[in-house]
Amino acid sequence: MKVLFLGTAAAEGVPGLFCGCEVCRIARQRGGKNLRTRSSIFIDNTLKIDLPPDTLHHVLSYGLDLSRLQHLLITHTHEDHLALHELGYLVPGFAYREQPLTAYGSEDFARTLGEISEQMRQWLQVKVLQPFAPYEIDNYTVIPVLAYHRADERCYNYIVSDGSRTLLYMCDTGWYREATWRYLAGVRLDAVIAECTKAFLEAPYDTHLGLSDVLKLKERLLAMGTAHADTRWAVTHFSHNGRPLQEELEAFCHPHGIEVAYDGWEMAL
Ligand SMILES: [Zn+2]
Ligand SMILES: [Zn+2]
Repeated sequence: MKVLFLGTAAAEGVPGLFCGCEVCRIARQRGGKNLRTRSSIFIDNTLKIDLPPDTLHHVLSYGLDLSRLQHLLITHTHEDHLALHELGYLVPGFAYREQPLTAYGSEDFARTLGEISEQMRQWLQVKVLQPFAPYEIDNYTVIPVLAYHRADERCYNYIVSDGSRTLLYMCDTGWYREATWRYLAGVRLDAVIAECTKAFLEAPYDTHLGLSDVLKLKERLLAMGTAHADTRWAVTHFSHNGRPLQEELEAFCHPHGIEVAYDGWEMAL
C-alpha cells in the first residue's frame, strides 16, 4: 500500500493564507517541507480521503488525473476537508469523465450534499457509511470509526486495509470516546496516521490532538495490542499555531519512532 500525502495542514494552511506570525514567516523562509496545504491522502492512486480547497494545487503538483478517480472518502464537512463548491466542476461542461465518482461519508455528509443539483447527481454518487461497519471498496476494506470532533456532525476516521496492510487515518479528532476504543481493541494496525493540529501547543480545546496526545495514543494502542512493534506512526494535519516546523517536529518525533508527514511524502507500507 502506498500513501501519498497530498496536504498536511489544518484549516488555514502553513504558512496561513493571510498570516504573518513568526512561525508562518519562518515557514516561508525555509520553504520545502515547511509549506503545507490542506490535508488529504491518496492511497495507491485509487482511494482518496477528503477533498480540500487545495485540490487543484495537488493535481498540478503531483500530476494527478482525478478524471479517473472513482472513490472519495470524506471524513467530515469542515471546509478544509470538503470544498463543496469544487464538486460543481464534476458535471459535463466543466468535466468529461467516463465514470461517476462515488463519495462516501456519514449521513451528515450526505445531508450537506443534498443541496447539489439533479444534473450533478448523475456524476456524483453518494454512499452513506455506518460507523464500525466494513465496506468493500475497490480492492480495499474500509471501516469508518467515530471521531470525536464535532457535536453537530458525525465525523469519521477511516481504517483502510488492502488485505495485507491495515492503516488508520485519524483526521480530524480529539481523544477517542469509548465506542471507538472498544472497536479498535479488535483491530491490528500496520500504520497509524494521527492528526496533530496542536503540535507543540498545549491548547484547552479537545476536538484535536497535539504531540503529547499522540504519545499517549501510541502508548495506549500498543498496550491494547492494536499497534505492534512494527506499526508505522506518522503525524499530519498541523495548524501554524502549534509551531509545526518540520525540523523541530522531526527532532521531537523521531526519538519516539514517529514520522512527520509533509506535502508530497509517500509512505510505503
Ligand atoms: Zn481539519
Ligand atoms: Zn475539522
